[in-house]
Amino acid sequence: MNYNKKTVRDVDVKGKKVLLRCDFNVPMAKDGSGTITDDKRIRAALPTIQYLLDQGAAVIACSHLGKPVATFDSYVKKQAEKGKDPASITEESWKKSLAALSLKPVAKRLGELLGREVIMAEDVVGEDAMAKAAALQPGQIMLLENTRFEKGETKNDPELSKKMASMADLYVSDAFGAVHRAHASTCGVADYLPAVSGFLIQKELEIIGGALADPKRPLVAILGGSKVSSKIGVINNLLEIADTIIIGGGMTYTFIKAKGGSVGKSLLEADWLDYCRDMMKKAEEKGVKFLLPEDTVCAKEFSADAEPVVVDSMAIPEDMMGMDIGPKSIAVYADAVKDAGTVIWNGPMGVFEFPAFAKGTEAVAEALSRCGAITIIGGGDSAAAVQQLGYADKMTHISTGGGASLEFMEGKELPGVACLLDA
Ligand code: ADP
Ligand code: MG
Repeated sequence: MNYNKKTVRDVDVKGKKVLLRCDFNVPMAKDGSGTITDDKRIRAALPTIQYLLDQGAAVIACSHLGKPVATFDSYVKKQAEKGKDPASITEESWKKSLAALSLKPVAKRLGELLGREVIMAEDVVGEDAMAKAAALQPGQIMLLENTRFEKGETKNDPELSKKMASMADLYVSDAFGAVHRAHASTCGVADYLPAVSGFLIQKELEIIGGALADPKRPLVAILGGSKVSSKIGVINNLLEIADTIIIGGGMTYTFIKAKGGSVGKSLLEADWLDYCRDMMKKAEEKGVKFLLPEDTVCAKEFSADAEPVVVDSMAIPEDMMGMDIGPKSIAVYADAVKDAGTVIWNGPMGVFEFPAFAKGTEAVAEALSRCGAITIIGGGDSAAAVQQLGYADKMTHISTGGGASLEFMEGKELPGVACLLDA
């Protein structure tokens, strides 16, 4: 995939109407009050929005929020699947579920952050949105309603894409968190408008794309998280390009078992033992250093106050489960990143949500913070862990897309990137 894409700086936006796809999929309070519990994603969109407004564009922003069910029929079906009596499902309850996913609170917060009015449309491509878009002046910004209120959005329906595109002269995508989805607002519209990236996507392409295509070596990949099975694509791709692969987290034990060790009650995916053997063999053939933790912090049960016990990784007692990498492994891993040119990290080293089992993840974050390499963090939980442990500002780049960054590291083509004009 070509990561070299045109950006907002490469086109003339003055006086243009710009359809800007943002990632405003923010967490909302569960009480339905419309309270945004973390506005990080709205803040992240500000540089591109501000640039477009300063350059004299009229900005028509759009985004999805959550997973609304776009038609009453499918709402009834979904509720019935959950065990609800179809007769008790009303149109009113469906509308209420949609109202809870309105982007109105986002428009309000965005307006506060920009210090200017954000005109809110009542729909996505309905009369209200069309009229407001037609009247929009340079330097003004409006926000369309939740794109997933339209059933054509997730189906990438050309009719919807055409309607959205008809409001604007240019499409700018800055929703990195959604580029792995081929939806109308993330890629369909690019069939009908010139399409370029905003600053968020530009940075992701530059840094992650750069590290995958032409890394500063040695390239060390640190892979952890819960399951081997969810990381197959990432392991496959990074084994092709990395000089060293470091394994931690829950996927460790399937590798340990594949090597003939005993893993007790640890997370184990028996279906993937052959795969793990193949990967270790492949690493050896390719001369890629492949490191598994020598020691493991175990516990008798999966709980925050279980007593941590350090054991040899190849001999985890029958009544115990691996929860984190041990102190010897920490030292080896810290040493392995010391002279790295680039480090790509996906997946926590242990159950970092429990402080007693967060030491491995924290030590790796600490080692990365002082190793001098280009350090890239991808994956939702990994980004959360690095933030929670206080190392966020010490990394070169923490990807803003969870699923999108994983697919990026898998070397997959991202539809929301592929649709942009090549530079
Ligand atoms: P990411 O979202 O960064 O791709 P994953 O979703 O693959 O990461 O994995 C994150 C989860 O893995 C965390 O919730 C963490 O608790 C869990 N995890 C890490 N180590 C272990 C382990 N030894 N046993 C069980 N779960 C683990
Ligand atoms: Mg995750």
